[in-house]
Amino acid sequence: MGGKLASILALALLLSISHSAHVGDKNDRHETNESSDISSRILNAHKATYGLEDELLHEQSRPDQDQHVKIHGEYVSTEETNESSDISSRILEANKDISDHLMEGDVALPRTRNAMRCLYYDCKWPKSRSGLVEVPYNISDYYYASEKRTIERAMAALHEKTCVRFVPHTNQLHYLSIESKTGCWSLVGRIGGKQRVSLNAFSCLQNGIVQHELLHALGFYHEHTRSDRDQYVRINWEHVSAGAISNFKKRDTNNLDTPYDYSSVMHYGRYADSTSRLHPTITPIPDASMEIGQRNELSEIDILKINKLYKCGGLQ
Ligand SMILES: [Zn+2]
Repeated sequence: MGGKLASILALALLLSISHSAHVGDKNDRHETNESSDISSRILNAHKATYGLEDELLHEQSRPDQDQHVKIHGEYVSTEETNESSDISSRILEANKDISDHLMEGDVALPRTRNAMRCLYYDCKWPKSRSGLVEVPYNISDYYYASEKRTIERAMAALHEKTCVRFVPHTNQLHYLSIESKTGCWSLVGRIGGKQRVSLNAFSCLQNGIVQHELLHALGFYHEHTRSDRDQYVRINWEHVSAGAISNFKKRDTNNLDTPYDYSSVMHYGRYADSTSRLHPTITPIPDASMEIGQRNELSEIDILKINKLYKCGGLQ
C-alpha cells in the first residue's frame, strides 16, 4: 500500500514538473519574441540619445517568479546575502563580457558632446526649494517584487542620511530608468532625459552594488581613482590585466575635503582586474592589511560626500 502510494506521488510529481517546465518553455519563447520588438524600439530610442553600445542593452528573458520556483527548486531569493567576494570583483565579474564598452569597469560612456561634459564637471541633480534633491526613478517591471524591494531599500538608506530623495518618476524630463541589462553599470552624474542604470537581476541585486551604481548616477567616481590616491594605495601595474589599465588611472576629482576612504562602497577591491587571484592590483599603504572593496553599504564618508556635494543641511 505504502509502495503504491509512493509511486502515485512520484508520478504526480513527474507530471507536475514536466508541465511546469513546458509552461516555462512556452513563456520563455513568448517573452523573447515580445521583448525583441520592445527592446529594439528602446535600443533605437536610446541610441539616439546616448549612443550606448547594443551589448550593454541586452536583457535576458525569464519565466515569471512562480514558474521559476517550480522549475528550479534551487531558486534563491535575491534578498541580501552575505557573500564574501568584494563588491568590485562582483561588479567586474558581472560585466566581463561587456567591459570593452565601459570605463573603469562599470561606468557607461555617453556619446553626445553635451553629456560628455559630466565626465569633467559635476553634473548634479538640482535641489528643490525644500532643500531636497529629488532624483526621479522608474524600476523596470522585469524585476520581481522582492528585487524591487532590494533596490528601494538601498535607496532608503540615502533618504535617512542625506538630502537626496529618490522619488517615483511621473512626468519629469530627467530620470533614472533602472533596468536589468547586461551587467551592473551607470552613467556618472545627471546626463539628462531618460538615463539608464543597469542592475542585472541575476548578478547586481545586492545592497552595496545598488548603492554603488546609484552613487555613480549622483556624480561620484571610484575612490581609488581620486587625485590624492597615491598617498593611500599603491597600484601594482604589473598585475593589472592588459585591457584594464585605464580603470586605474587617476582623475582630477573633487575630493570635497574628505579623507581618503578605504571603506567606501566606491572603492575597488584589492584583486580587481588582476591577472591572477594571487596578485593584488591595489595595496593600501602604509598598512597593506587595510580592508578595501566592501560590498555591504555606504560608508560614513560616502554619506558625508553626498551631503557635501549636494550641500545638504548647509554643508559645504
Ligand atoms: Zn563603479
